[in-house]
Amino acid sequence: MKKPIRILLVGAKGRMGKAIAAAAKNRSEVTISGKLDRSDPLALSIHDSDVVIDFSHTEATELVCRTCLENKKPLVLGTTGHTEEQTKLIEAAAQAVPILFAPNFSVGVNALFWLTRKVAELLGPDFDLEIVEMHHRSKKDSPSGTAKRLGEILIKARSHGRKRPNGEGPHDEIGMHSLRGGDVVGEHTVIFAGQGERLELIHRASNRETFALGALRAAQWIVGKSPGLYSMQDVLGL
Ligand code: NAD
Repeated sequence: MKKPIRILLVGAKGRMGKAIAAAAKNRSEVTISGKLDRSDPLALSIHDSDVVIDFSHTEATELVCRTCLENKKPLVLGTTGHTEEQTKLIEAAAQAVPILFAPNFSVGVNALFWLTRKVAELLGPDFDLEIVEMHHRSKKDSPSGTAKRLGEILIKARSHGRKRPNGEGPHDEIGMHSLRGGDVVGEHTVIFAGQGERLELIHRASNRETFALGALRAAQWIVGKSPGLYSMQDVLGL
């Protein structure tokens, strides 16, 4: 039988850390070889792992990337809310080790990314674009990483799109609305509002298992890959 992939989990005491550890218990292909949280020594535990999964806080990212680099370990990075500088640091580290960086590990949201691009291309420049997201009251970043990625997809689709018949360029303004409250795991709506019609794409996550299973699938996928920055779209072949 193939040996299970050994995962070092960073942010293990958090909501996502617990969900990943619970999901891993039911899968013989993976095992959690180490659990770390704030102020635990990362460098000591990394030797006994094949891959690192980090769902913690942006302040951990620099150390996590550096330790993965020094030990040539692949990284699955689920933490969101990075600054531009931190994002550049992740991109630089990905030149030497494989890093899978995804704002959302659910299969449904990755289908939403694909659909959003297709619909924006189909409907063209006459539709106004709005993104609405809602999360639980403890979420630290706003807008969510998923909402930001949806915005990037819409901007890209628009910049490649056709011009209006009167020669004007398409609207670049995309409304982004963040709601926080209760225990909402994660909801994202992309609204395409036109004259006399409106199309909405909605994704609702009802528990964290979907993100946890996606992260475990990503961890299995990334072991043995060449250095580079990968996304969940690569794992799913979208
Ligand atoms: P949480 O606050 O419940 O847990 C975060 C954990 O990280 C805590 O236990 C905290 O003590 C720990 N931590 C904080 N700083 C640390 C450090 N420097 N080193 C090590 N551990 C540290 O948060 P959560 O809901 O589990 O979310 C964690 C992150 O994952 C957030 O950035 C969130 O936005 C993101 N997230 C991503 C996805 C996805 O699919 N990509 C899904 C859900 C959440």
